[in-house]
Amino acid sequence: MTMTMTRPVTKPALDTSHGVKAHIIAPPEGGSAHGTVTEARVFGLPLVALCGKKFVPQRDAANLPVCGRCVEVFESHGAIGGREEIKQ
Ligand SMILES: [Zn+2]
Repeated sequence: MTMTMTRPVTKPALDTSHGVKAHIIAPPEGGSAHGTVTEARVFGLPLVALCGKKFVPQRDAANLPVCGRCVEVFESHGAIGGREEIKQ
C-alpha cells in the first residue's frame, strides 16, 4: 500500500476545494446583507451563512451557484431582510 502524503499547500485560505458557492447570509439587525458582505470582504471578517458555513467573502458572488442548503434554510424560514437569526 502506497501512502501519498499530501502536504498542506501554503496559500491564502481560499475555500475552492469543493467548488465555490454563493451563500446566503442574514442581515444584521438594522443593517443590510449587502453592506455586511461588503464590509466583511474589505476587512476580512468571517460571516456565517444560513447553512452554517463560516466563510470570509473574497469575491463577487454574483456569478457563483447558490448554496443549496442556504436556499433550503432561506425558503423554510421565509423572511430574509427581516430578523433572521443564525445559530452559530
Ligand atoms: Zn450555504
